[in-house]
Amino acid sequence: MENTNETEFNNARLEVLIPADVLQARIREMGAEIAKEYAGKNPLLICVLKGAMVFMADLIRAIDLPLTIDFIAVSSYGAGTRSTGEVRIVKDLDHPLEGHDVIFVEDILDTGLTLSYLLDTFRARGVASVKLAALLNKPERRKVEVHLDYKGFDIPDKFVVGYGLDFDERYRNLPYIGVVRP
Ligand code: 5GP
Repeated sequence: MENTNETEFNNARLEVLIPADVLQARIREMGAEIAKEYAGKNPLLICVLKGAMVFMADLIRAIDLPLTIDFIAVSSYGAGTRSTGEVRIVKDLDHPLEGHDVIFVEDILDTGLTLSYLLDTFRARGVASVKLAALLNKPERRKVEVHLDYKGFDIPDKFVVGYGLDFDERYRNLPYIGVVRP
């Protein structure tokens, strides 16, 4: 993998952790795996806003199946770079979940607090099945055990931005995953 990348988005404080072509190749594999496992079904993919929206957009185009999408927003970081542990639903789903095969789509699994909360909440809403897909995983930071069914990449304990992930609302439009240098 490259350490630096000169693009029009580039900023002296950023380095490339996962280049765009590597992201795309892995997401195509994840989509194919989901399509295979859900053959004959119509999964409901739930994007956890805002960070997962770029991943979601690419992932659904890599799944060759009829599917349904929905969006949920939970409270997340403010201007800081560490999880507060507080989880609050700020935009709930449009669809009832009963009987659906649900796949939560997250940008990054860090402490695990967000996804474990969502899982507990939505299992109680009568879903047929629930699985989790996350583009990035920071195993070192886990506070609660969460099983990831579809995982893009394990990454080190660094604060990453780009491809939907922000730092104080910046960098979401970077086409790659980058690290903000201290
Ligand atoms: P968890 O509840 O697993 O600690 O955190 C999940 C959420 O924290 C992610 O959806 C994301 O919004 C945020 N997050 C965790 N690590 C990072 C990171 O390295 N960069 C950014 N931009 N957000 C992160």
